[in-house]
Amino acid sequence: MQATALVHGFPAKSASHGSLGWCSVWLLESGDRRVLVETGPPGYAPRLLGLLAERDLAPRDITDVLITHAHWDHLYNLPMFPHATWWIGRDELTWARDLPAETPFVSPLHVAMLDGGHPDVGLVGDGDVVLPGVRAVATPGHTPGHLAYVVEAERALIFAGDSVKNIYELSTGLVDMTLDQAASEASVTLLRDLMRQRGAVLVPGHDVPLEVDERGEVRRTTLQQASLAVYLAPDEPPTSQPIGMEGSR
Ligand SMILES: [Zn+2]
Repeated sequence: MQATALVHGFPAKSASHGSLGWCSVWLLESGDRRVLVETGPPGYAPRLLGLLAERDLAPRDITDVLITHAHWDHLYNLPMFPHATWWIGRDELTWARDLPAETPFVSPLHVAMLDGGHPDVGLVGDGDVVLPGVRAVATPGHTPGHLAYVVEAERALIFAGDSVKNIYELSTGLVDMTLDQAASEASVTLLRDLMRQRGAVLVPGHDVPLEVDERGEVRRTTLQQASLAVYLAPDEPPTSQPIGMEGSR
């Protein structure tokens, strides 16, 4: 599989306005297969279309979408890819279909699409080979049926979804926003072991790819950066405001 980051996740939540949901979205390509890992929040839609168009791809060219879990910021744009097989954990869908409609971060409309509304949904369990070169690994905690995906590429990649949201969680094992703290910690340990065994890079749900060096320290493989275009004054066009960590690794 050839793997390309379309949008890097950003390790932040709004301290004033609720969720931010800037998650990692990647494209995997092998032969005729074009696979998206996650689809991102609604604000990603125009950006995804543009990034695909830059590669002479349209949404209809996407053959498969791998979803790690049922939270809105990972699966919102699924309907953009009606010709694809949508892959999600069997246990995750079982959990999500029984939730009260007001459950935070879970969209009942999207769950209904996954649960009979879309003609081509693949339900995945721990250890399943989902596609050639792609294996699912159960990583419960953040949600009960959460999956990570291990992908054979030039260097093995582990798409951790929100079982590891960012560099802090992989480094410390301390996980925020989990439904089961002990299960989450076990999932982080499992993924760190897999990274070591495979020499793999881990792609968190909300950060740039991470690797562990020979001393066991976690580091980013590329710069973490984002900016907002902000209207600051009545007579000024929006100015670009970097957020986070200029040059932070
Ligand atoms: Zn989540």
